[in-house]
Amino acid sequence: MAAVSIHHEVEAIHHEAGAVDPGWVRRIEATSGEPVRLCFGCGVCSGSCPLASAMDLLPGRVLRAIQLGLRDRVLQAVTPWVCIGCETCAVRCPNGIDVARVMDAVRQEVLALERPVPMPGVYRFHRWFLRTVWLLGRAHEAALSAGYALQQGRLRRDLPTGLRLMRRRRLALWPHAVRRRGEVRRLFGAGIREHER
Ligand code: SF4
Ligand code: SF4
Repeated sequence: MAAVSIHHEVEAIHHEAGAVDPGWVRRIEATSGEPVRLCFGCGVCSGSCPLASAMDLLPGRVLRAIQLGLRDRVLQAVTPWVCIGCETCAVRCPNGIDVARVMDAVRQEVLALERPVPMPGVYRFHRWFLRTVWLLGRAHEAALSAGYALQQGRLRRDLPTGLRLMRRRRLALWPHAVRRRGEVRRLFGAGIREHER
């Protein structure tokens, strides 16, 4: 895949309106543990991302916007919620920046500031995933799918597909037992807030 032109990215970012917060990049670096200021905007991450077509800001532009302190623009972007953390960008970045961790930091900030989540369905899916791991000690696809479909009001629509997958043994009805479930819960620690369970 071709790298996206840096000139195009920078030009597009400079057309974005919004307040500038010059110290934001340091805070995102602290939260993510990633050296965002090292990014020189080559666009390799953007050109490598399998979900770029679903994003409103390409990954490289997110990094650039953070450097420029365009906090509101990034917090409103769907990109961090579209990112699936596949790490394709991380393995190809010439500066070794783990962009997925930067996306995590942006999502955390949206939640910490109680800003509107640009893709509420994705956030609900994250929460259901964590809830099933907290309850069962591991991910369980049937519980995750059923809970999410119920919450989205589409259980009736999705049920036939789920039953078909079960008949073909692609979806297990019962989760495998997890020993020491309490230890898994302890791993969550303070990292999962009460309202997310
Ligand atoms: S994060 Fe890495 S790959 Fe992406 S634009 Fe910056 S330097 Fe290039
Ligand atoms: S980790 Fe996110 S931004 Fe990076 S390539 Fe995967 S989906 Fe794209």
